[in-house]
Amino acid sequence: MSEQKPPRWDMTNVYPSLSSNEYAKDLARLISLIETQSNYVAGPMQQLNAQSDLKSLAKTAGDLIEQTNEIFLIKGTMTAYIESFVSTDSYNKEAQTKQSEFDQVAVRIEKLQVQISAWIGQIAAALPKLIELDERTKAHPYFLYEAAKYSRYMMSEKEEMLAAELSLSGSTAWTKLQGTVTSQYSVPFEMDGKIQKMPMPALINLRSHPDAEVRKKGYEAENQAWNTLKEPLAAAMNGIKGEVNTLNARRGREDALHASIDQSHIDRETLEAMFSAMRDSFPMFRGYFRSKAKRLGHENGKLPWWDVFAPVGESNTVYTFAEAKEFILEQFGEFSPRLSAFAKHAFESHWIDAEQRSGKRGGAFCMEVPGVGESRVLCNFDGSLDTVTTIGHELGHAFHNDCAIKAHKTEIQKMTPMTLAETASIMCETIINHASLKKVRNDSERLAILEAKLAGDSQVIVDIYSRYLFEKEVFERREKSELSADELCDIMEKAQLATYGDGLDERYLQKWMWTWKPHYYSAGFSFYNYPYAFGLLFGTGLYAIYQKRGNDFVEDYVQLLASTGEASAADLAARFGIDIRRKQFWTDSLKIIGTQVDEYIHIK
Ligand SMILES: [Zn+2]
Repeated sequence: MSEQKPPRWDMTNVYPSLSSNEYAKDLARLISLIETQSNYVAGPMQQLNAQSDLKSLAKTAGDLIEQTNEIFLIKGTMTAYIESFVSTDSYNKEAQTKQSEFDQVAVRIEKLQVQISAWIGQIAAALPKLIELDERTKAHPYFLYEAAKYSRYMMSEKEEMLAAELSLSGSTAWTKLQGTVTSQYSVPFEMDGKIQKMPMPALINLRSHPDAEVRKKGYEAENQAWNTLKEPLAAAMNGIKGEVNTLNARRGREDALHASIDQSHIDRETLEAMFSAMRDSFPMFRGYFRSKAKRLGHENGKLPWWDVFAPVGESNTVYTFAEAKEFILEQFGEFSPRLSAFAKHAFESHWIDAEQRSGKRGGAFCMEVPGVGESRVLCNFDGSLDTVTTIGHELGHAFHNDCAIKAHKTEIQKMTPMTLAETASIMCETIINHASLKKVRNDSERLAILEAKLAGDSQVIVDIYSRYLFEKEVFERREKSELSADELCDIMEKAQLATYGDGLDERYLQKWMWTWKPHYYSAGFSFYNYPYAFGLLFGTGLYAIYQKRGNDFVEDYVQLLASTGEASAADLAARFGIDIRRKQFWTDSLKIIGTQVDEYIHIK
């Protein structure tokens, strides 16, 4: 990767800059739309109730939907634009100020949505009839029914308003603190005889470094750093989980999981069916961990944490960014020319920010920029097959967005739950994986590809389940008292032992996983973990159908992606003849992964 630096993204077609007239004009327009909706909500909307005539109700619901779509379009665009600076440069003061200003505006939108949901809840009984009376309500039935359902778990309007305002100085502030602390902290680290300042995300990425000594030293440096940072991070965790518990209790939720599964558009039956299949699969994954440990020379057959992500086989190939692009486009092309053409466009239009640098957040994500009908992808590209796959994954999200954009879906229709949001990304990962396995020339290459795939899958099943166990216990114990950093570490270790079992060396677990995974620090979405498992297993199940049906599957698939905001996961799955409340579907997907584990174990 020597000659060319991985690229940064280009945002200039969205606005010229944060201080531009164009940005200011959109902000002014957004505020004016919010004021119009505020007046509407306080006036015409409040004058109607369950006893009003259906025609007026339908028109009012239709007006509210239309206003909301307009507001969400600008809000989504501005949020993404600000995020493009904040996520890549946490030192950018102007962006932080703009974000903070924008948070105030976003809260007004949130408050309006709460009032609208409450009103929809009041007229819930009339929904089946009124939906038919207006083109706009007809286009958004799922949104209306979901709003009515959500309204059952709301505090009084005044309390909801106060909670939304206070979240800015509560959970939102904690979330920001966690992001800033983990992205800005750098530690001196010696590599290739040179001591360099290494930001935490780059240090974490050393987990997949080809040199075992570097991985081990990285692990030790990481542990030391987290020990230094543990107090502010534990405070952030306590602040967020405490706030979520308080609000859930006030809203009449059964537990912290309750709101999460509603937001995921699934139910407990589905989740338990999936979890049960996952628990059954742990011995299979432990077989993979043990085989990997042996390959890396750990005679006890147990992996120390620093080797969980170690490359195995001939994956020491380092990709340049240009090679990564070529590889991805080729593999996508085998699935569908549309997917490949789309990805090419994303690369060539500078939608991807891949360079690692200080102040940039770790990990990867994709965001839609609705105002320009595009997406942007952030990742920390280091040339490993793992980070190549990550680009493929994130481009899957972008493709998902594109399917909805091309189908002219409204902003409301596009609101996809986390569970289904991972479908396309996992499909893209699977496409890359299967296509590249077909092309291997020898066992060592095969081993490297299987390794990358299984390292990822075992994270999504085994590690994700440990994160679920961790978060469940944190929520339960946070009800009684705050948790110290040490207690959080204990809960994490316990969760890792329960899932990885004898696949991990119990002397070298990673008790600090809770410090840097941003998912634990989202007050708006608790249990930001199982949706990944859902996505992997759902995507794998769909891939199996693609293998059976071939090309004629692709059109159905594109339509499914365009509709993920318009039905429950179970209803969407039913279109493919899949019953996700049955354990069998999940077990079958895990079996597909199991055949790869078998293959892995048997390669000499
Ligand atoms: Zn994803």
